[in-house]
Amino acid sequence: MCGVFGVHAAERDVARLTYFGLFSLQHRGQESAGIAVSEHGRLTALRDLGLVTQVFDEQKLHGLRGEIAIGHTRYSTTGSSQWSNAQPLVQHGSARTVALGHNGNLVNESVLRERLHAEGVTLRSTSDSEVIAALIANDAAPLDEAVATAMRRLEGAYSVVALSEGTLIAFRDPLGFRPLVLGRIHEAGSVGGQGDWVVASETCALDLVGAKFVREVERGEAVLIDDNGLRSVPAVEPDGGGALCIFEFFYLARPDTKLSGIEVHGARVRMGERLALEAPADVDLVLPIPDSGTPAAIGFSRALGVPFSEGLIKNRYIARTFIQPDQELRRQGVRLKFNPLAEVAGKRLAVVDDSIVRGNTTQQIVAMLFDAGAAEVHVRISSPPVIGQCFYGIDLADPAEMIASDKTVEEIRAYIGATSLAYLSHDGLVAATKRPASELCRACLTGEYPTPVPIEHAKLRFEEVPT
Ligand code: SF4
Repeated sequence: MCGVFGVHAAERDVARLTYFGLFSLQHRGQESAGIAVSEHGRLTALRDLGLVTQVFDEQKLHGLRGEIAIGHTRYSTTGSSQWSNAQPLVQHGSARTVALGHNGNLVNESVLRERLHAEGVTLRSTSDSEVIAALIANDAAPLDEAVATAMRRLEGAYSVVALSEGTLIAFRDPLGFRPLVLGRIHEAGSVGGQGDWVVASETCALDLVGAKFVREVERGEAVLIDDNGLRSVPAVEPDGGGALCIFEFFYLARPDTKLSGIEVHGARVRMGERLALEAPADVDLVLPIPDSGTPAAIGFSRALGVPFSEGLIKNRYIARTFIQPDQELRRQGVRLKFNPLAEVAGKRLAVVDDSIVRGNTTQQIVAMLFDAGAAEVHVRISSPPVIGQCFYGIDLADPAEMIASDKTVEEIRAYIGATSLAYLSHDGLVAATKRPASELCRACLTGEYPTPVPIEHAKLRFEEVPT
């Protein structure tokens, strides 16, 4: 996952803007946060483990002066959750110094790492993102060319913000797995034209800092923004219709974000409506598993004509269990996180969630609802079963831990202890996004990957396999 943000604004407090941009992208990564600024070409970076609000305070922001800033919130997919992997990374190369924040995951990282080692480049972190920074930092070509050359060597998912030579850089892989948008902050009362440039993982970050959406960073495009304005470098030919991650639509992105022009909340409500048509349930109440199941539960309840109830109260001060790094923390997290309302007692419930990966969370919630007196618990999932791992930036689970990789729907129902269980169909999910299937990555749901993938992801040993 991860969130990235960047701003070029000579007359503004760019570190403060980045802080608030990251604050709105906190849902994309909660393990570490960082900001790098460029003041007349001199780079300063501050990064640490923790939430944005834990890493930064007034004093630290005050020390981050400059005209350009980039920021990052991290959730680890390659490399562990440790300080040296926090971003923005700063790479001092033979050609230039680069600060860089990356959302996504490379699939040819180990090959590139070996080549860089052979060229005498020292890499300090275990993150694939450092490889990207090193490619640009050690290329003697002009910056635009160095970025384009690096992009041509990368395979996999990358939505990147970077800072070098007094330039804000943003680039995106040719399949566009992860979102990356451009916006402008205008002076109050001004109309169109000029304004300061902002780049962010999601449109919700533009909204928070008062920037207007301009366009997406195109697939395969690099944009470079300096005192002379923005220039676009079409570095890599976009690959087919693209492969925007469908998990962004039903789980990851914030509901108020627009992906390819489609508001995520509306898409999730449609998923719930379709689920109600495909797998209705004779129930008294519809409950979401908050928060990512909430819009789909609204749609499900509306389409069925059954009352919606909050039902499960969530402690919002606990990080999302899905993205904590190990299984034991997840197990503890769910017990701390939800508590049912008394109104569920004696009721037949439909419980709507966005996905089931391991099944542990769902199992505990179903048991909690029966303990609270529910008469029936019908689980409805607003996506198809997750059957394969993600190589493009979401740490779903090892395939061996994925409950749907070797169990039927009925076996999963028995495992989670629900009265009934149903998933949204593939066609229903795609239709709800209003994007054609040819523009979406659904690899973890279908097993059909849009790139060659490493056979042994854990060790990042890159070998191509037929897809
Ligand atoms: S494999 Fe799944 S989670 Fe990964 S990019 Fe594709 S749809 Fe998204």
